[in-house]
Amino acid sequence: MIIAIDGPAASGKGTLARRLAGRYALPHLDTGLLYRATAAALFDRGRDLSDVEAAIAAARGLALTDFDEARLRTREMGEAASVVAALPAMREALIQAQRNFAQRPGGAVLDGRDIGTVICPQADVKIFVTASPEVRAQRRALELAARGEKVDYGAILADIAKRDARDSGRAAAPLKAAPDAALLDTSRLSVDAAFAEALRIVDERQGRRNA
Ligand code: C5P
Repeated sequence: MIIAIDGPAASGKGTLARRLAGRYALPHLDTGLLYRATAAALFDRGRDLSDVEAAIAAARGLALTDFDEARLRTREMGEAASVVAALPAMREALIQAQRNFAQRPGGAVLDGRDIGTVICPQADVKIFVTASPEVRAQRRALELAARGEKVDYGAILADIAKRDARDSGRAAAPLKAAPDAALLDTSRLSVDAAFAEALRIVDERQGRRNA
């Protein structure tokens, strides 16, 4: 079973994807990390985020040692990732690795922005996770505070709005729900309630497939 989870920053898609992967004993790929690691590699090489050739080379050359999550999960790297992710040729360079991951026997869970639309249009289950920008900013603020980072709610909300606009407005694989995705708005749901709803969607989709 391939489960595709898409949605904007801080919608809760990562948590849901991890929990679904645990429940169905499937491998999980957080595809945002690929874009974050590519941006980090460009910084390391002193290259500009708009340098297409360097971005393609960085994406193609990603190695397991490039996935230092403490470094990649910062606000700055999310922003930088969204800048390089708008380069179509750089996205191309990451497509096959993502598809290979999805195609392993038994299936996989992938989360990102274009999993249900571009990477795995044939996914068995597609969920598009959303939440209001205010709720997402609140969650981000709590996350950062828990890590001991300084929190400026207004700046976080502005960041989220900017990232939404860039991810949804780009020409290459923009953030959008696949026509056959189930929409899951987590604005008013606890993590457990959102997970229960995701399980219900998976059951329903599988039931439909097997009917
Ligand atoms: O999900 P995360 O916040 O880690 O993603 C960082 C950035 O990477 C996103 O804002 C988006 O621009 C890009 N991304 C993408 N396609 C994906 C996953 C992430 O364009 N499948």
